[in-house]
Amino acid sequence: MKRRDEATTNTDHQPGIAGKRAVVTGAARGQGAAECRHLSAAGASVVAVDLADGPEEDLGDAAYRRLDVTDPAAWAGLVAHLRRQGGRVDALVNNAGVTWRARLGEVDPADMERVYRVNVIGPMLGIQHCAELMPTGSSIVNVGSIAALTGHAPVAYTTSKWALRGLSKVAALELGPRGIRVNTVHPGYIETPMTASASLAFREANVTETPLGRTGTVDDVAALVTFLVSDQSSYLSGTEIPVDGGMTSHGGVKSIADANRQAARR
Ligand code: NAD
Repeated sequence: MKRRDEATTNTDHQPGIAGKRAVVTGAARGQGAAECRHLSAAGASVVAVDLADGPEEDLGDAAYRRLDVTDPAAWAGLVAHLRRQGGRVDALVNNAGVTWRARLGEVDPADMERVYRVNVIGPMLGIQHCAELMPTGSSIVNVGSIAALTGHAPVAYTTSKWALRGLSKVAALELGPRGIRVNTVHPGYIETPMTASASLAFREANVTETPLGRTGTVDDVAALVTFLVSDQSSYLSGTEIPVDGGMTSHGGVKSIADANRQAARR
C-alpha cells in the first residue's frame, strides 16, 4: 500500500485506472481528500465535490465543485456539467458522511432524519444521477463504517450506515447487468477531522480493541478505494471490506484473549 507521500509524488499510473473519470463526495478534507490524491496520482481525472466553499486540504490534480449530496438539483447540475465535458463517469465514491453522537435515550427524530439525508439519501441520489453517465466497467464505492457491522452506540449514525449497506446491495443487484460494480468499505477509527472531535478515551478504547494496535490513516482507506475503482477489482461487486486493523474480526474476543494472556503471565 502506498503512503501519502508516495501517492502524491508517484508518476507511474496504476494499471486499470489511468484515464478514468471519478467523482468523490465529501472531498474537501479527511478521507475524501486522500481519495482524490490517490486517484489522481493513479492517473484518474477526479471531480471533488463537497458542501464546503473550497478544499481544506491538498486534493492532488482534482477539480473542485461545491455540491450538497442531499440536493437532487445539485446532482442534476453536476451531471449536466459532466455531459458538457465529455459525458462519462467511470467511478463514484460516496464518501460524504456526518456523525451524530446522541445515544438511544436522547436521540431526536430530526437528528435521525438529518443524518439519514447525508449518509443514505446522498449516496442514493449520487448513484441515480451518476449511473446515467456510467459505461460498462464502471465502479461505485460506498463508504460505510464498522458502525454498520456492530451495535455502535450513536444510533443515528449506526442505523444510517446499516441502511447504506442495504442500498449498496440493491445497487449491486440493479446495476450489475450494466457492468457497473458496487462495493462498500467499512473504515474503523481513522485519523480525520471527524474523529478529532471525539474524546481521547474513545480513541484509546479503539486502539485497545484493534489487533494491529493502532488507529488507521486516510491512506489506509484511500488505497483500498483506489483498488476498488480500478479494473484490478473487476470481478468484485456487492462486497463489503472492513479497513479496521482487524477490529471487527474478533467479535469482542480480543479483551478475553488479552485477559487470558495476562493471567497466564501471573
Ligand atoms: P470528515 O468529517 O473529516 O469529512 C467529511 C466531509 O464530508 C467534510 O468535508 C464535509 O464537509 C463533507 N460533507 C458533509 N455533509 C455533506 C453534504 N451534505 N454534501 C457534501 N459534502 C458533505 O469525515 P471523514 O472522517 O473523512 O469521513 C469520511 C467518510 O468515512 C464518512 O462517510 C464517514 O462516516 C466515514 N467513516 C469515517 C471514520 C473515521 O474514523 N474517520 C470511520 C468510519 C467511517
